[in-house]
Amino acid sequence: MIPPGETIGILGGGQLGRMLAIAAAQLGYRCHIFAPEPDSIAAEVSAAFTCAEWDDAEAMERFAADCAVVTYEFENVPVAPLAALGDTLLLPGRRALEIAQDRLNEKQFVAKLGGTTAPYAAVETAAQLAEAVTAIGAPGILKTRRDGYDGKGQWRIGSAQEAQVLELPGQPLIYEGFVDFSAEFSVIACRTHDGEVRFWDSAHNEHEGGILARSTVPAGPAIAAHIASARELTAAIADALDYVGVLTCEFFATDGGPVFNEMAPRVHNSGHWSIEGALTSQFENHIRAICGLPLGDTALCAERVEMRNLIGDAVHDWAAILSDPASHLHLYGKAAARPGRKMGHVTRLVL
Ligand code: AMP
Repeated sequence: MIPPGETIGILGGGQLGRMLAIAAAQLGYRCHIFAPEPDSIAAEVSAAFTCAEWDDAEAMERFAADCAVVTYEFENVPVAPLAALGDTLLLPGRRALEIAQDRLNEKQFVAKLGGTTAPYAAVETAAQLAEAVTAIGAPGILKTRRDGYDGKGQWRIGSAQEAQVLELPGQPLIYEGFVDFSAEFSVIACRTHDGEVRFWDSAHNEHEGGILARSTVPAGPAIAAHIASARELTAAIADALDYVGVLTCEFFATDGGPVFNEMAPRVHNSGHWSIEGALTSQFENHIRAICGLPLGDTALCAERVEMRNLIGDAVHDWAAILSDPASHLHLYGKAAARPGRKMGHVTRLVL
């Protein structure tokens, strides 16, 4: 067990790190952020900050020496430099990152555990793309295997002709058949060292332009029917990775059951509602799990909870949001409100 007063290292300096650090501070921990960008909004609320490139081995060693445990808020942290952290300091472990960083690995891993995914094929060349579209059919989505997020690095392909004229980006890709889904939802779980797994209520997620716009809990009957099987798969993934901390899996609700889309080995935007909407938030339970403390109750504490992201200029609505007593405003302290940038979120409870 890592008692309060110790230092928790967080790799990545964005809003997820910021909310993890706030939860850790409430439990009496210090946080030390490691991030390459100097204007870290997580460092702003933390005790210490190492601003260095991921492959700066000396900085990583110094950071490791200051931390009782290290976690990450960003799944695209390069894995190789993390060897400096050894095998026990990093939670969740490196294997979770390796799987989640590559959409092909991720789908193969989940399929082996019995999960259903969209039909997929690895693609590197135009000929392979043509073959994949013939085998899987169109419409489909071509995605970069690595580094995609919020709909970036994705191309919708409506027909074989469209595939022919597409200029490939020159990196490993995956072609996925288009899943005919009625809704999207996520399962957020927290697993302890001892293998105890707790879940939050699943949110119904609505995306706009590839970015999460809203998460609503309870998710509704159409999604509720899929929860048991989606949770079973999520727990199987967590067990297979001997995972410690919060793990998120995103699913499509289809007539044939839940279809796994992707996983994030971290706290997730679709769980931000849990700060006020659950007895214990995803951030607090992640800190508890990696420190070996008992988990808090994840039960919903309102009849209905809606989390809305404040993207780009929507952040300027903060005064109107504050005039609604049922709304809880979270601003991430980012300087510039660029289009598509997550600037904050607002959670509204209906009691
Ligand atoms: P992803 O980055 O994989 O989460 O994709 C972003 C969004 O694109 C998802 O939330 C879905 O709305 C949509 N999407 C991704 N993959 C598929 C698919 N195979 N079939 C249908 N829609 C998809």
